[in-house]
Amino acid sequence: MQYQSTRGESPLRSFSQVLLMGLAPDGGLMMPTSYPKISTETLTQWRSLSYAQLAFEVMSLFIDDIPSEDLRAMLERTYTEEVFGTADITPVRRLQDGLLVQELSNGPTLAFKDMAMQFLGQVFEYVLARENKTLNILGATSGDTGSAAEYAMRGKQGINVFMLSPEGKMSAFQRAQMFSLADENIHNIAVNGLFDDCQDIIKAVQADAEFKQKYAIGTVNSINWARIVAQVVYYVRGYLAATTSNDEKVSFCVPSGNFGNVCAGHIARQMGLPIERLIVATNENDVLDEFFKTGAYRPRTSDNTFITSSPSMDISKASNFERFVFDLVGQDGEKVRQLWAGVNSGEGFDLADQLAQVHGQYGFASGSSTHQDRLDTMKAVHAAGDGFVDPHTADGIKVARQVRLDGETIICLETALATKFDETVREALGNDVVIPRPEALSGLEDLPQRVTVIDNNAEVVKDIIRQAVTA
Ligand SMILES: *Cc1c(COP(=O)(O)O)cnc(C)c1O
Repeated sequence: MQYQSTRGESPLRSFSQVLLMGLAPDGGLMMPTSYPKISTETLTQWRSLSYAQLAFEVMSLFIDDIPSEDLRAMLERTYTEEVFGTADITPVRRLQDGLLVQELSNGPTLAFKDMAMQFLGQVFEYVLARENKTLNILGATSGDTGSAAEYAMRGKQGINVFMLSPEGKMSAFQRAQMFSLADENIHNIAVNGLFDDCQDIIKAVQADAEFKQKYAIGTVNSINWARIVAQVVYYVRGYLAATTSNDEKVSFCVPSGNFGNVCAGHIARQMGLPIERLIVATNENDVLDEFFKTGAYRPRTSDNTFITSSPSMDISKASNFERFVFDLVGQDGEKVRQLWAGVNSGEGFDLADQLAQVHGQYGFASGSSTHQDRLDTMKAVHAAGDGFVDPHTADGIKVARQVRLDGETIICLETALATKFDETVREALGNDVVIPRPEALSGLEDLPQRVTVIDNNAEVVKDIIRQAVTA
């Protein structure tokens, strides 16, 4: 399996090469040159597999430069009951009104990012050891991504993590989660500034080509192809859990920000998984909803991005969206370059003439949700005896209820657990509600914490990396 850039001007690469790449040299994202197909017979055979076995069957279609037995062993280590709390890994439950919810948030950091990040930790360690390389991951987080990366990379050979976060801006739970890690290869750095300042520091460090090369600086951001591949698996798993025969079709509703999660759904559908619709749910930051309704993609500046109570969906540009558009324009890299010239100039682009294809051939639909919608949905779910959902999952359920067609089976992807966003959950359900939290995380906020607070200065971050790596 070879991988190509969405901008069409980079050499073809193998899986292991793409794994350690950020953007392609031409600025694009890497995509397989063709999609492997899933036949009906194959789907039937997959019905009896464990999650780890299914992950091997699906992912080995995309990964041919790691020996099968090694990939299989890695996946058996990744998707365990110990890490994900249930033998099923992604159980599907039914709400009173018939909507299905697929639980993707039972991993160590209680958000769906663990599903892919836990695999990334295993495969990074494996490929680095094979190639006798080391990697210093430099990232910025406002909450979910940073903790998922740290829990995936903790204690891994050949890998250090340097995670920047804005001082005092994360929730008490998120701070405790990251700062209580005692592993020597995890470095928490709180910057006196905002999330954007953290991102600027990363850009400044990356721009120092000599430093970047000497210290093998890498990232784990959402454009990483290995994360997308790992996410394709739970769409197959969800389909198999919701159906008894391969003649049935299901739709997925996906709370979306950077388009990484639903991009994996698009790939599963292209592989022939019987998906009816892919429903993209946004919050008030509705650039994607606008595109799927009108065909116009009008990314916004960070000044025009709302800060909402489903913060992990507060995006103004959806980085993985380029992967879908690449398919939509017939994998024409030249065309993608033109469209993204429009994005980079701030204007965006308009594909209204292809909207029928977006809905028909590709099965996309969309909707958006507001703060009040989230509160109302969390309340309604709880009142119906369906327990707790987090604000992001609530956005998805709200949109699914709004667009659901007669007889349609919709699986809403749960992207985080309620306890992670307890302030908003309390706003919806009242202050004395007891929000369930996994046993292992009780008392998390009382553990000792380890973090270095610094001024907003890229040179200080470089010094921290130099010292840690040389030590
Ligand atoms: C990251 C995240 C999302 C958005 O997922 P994308 O892949 O960026 O579209 C939604 N909900 C939660 C809780 C998240 O952490």
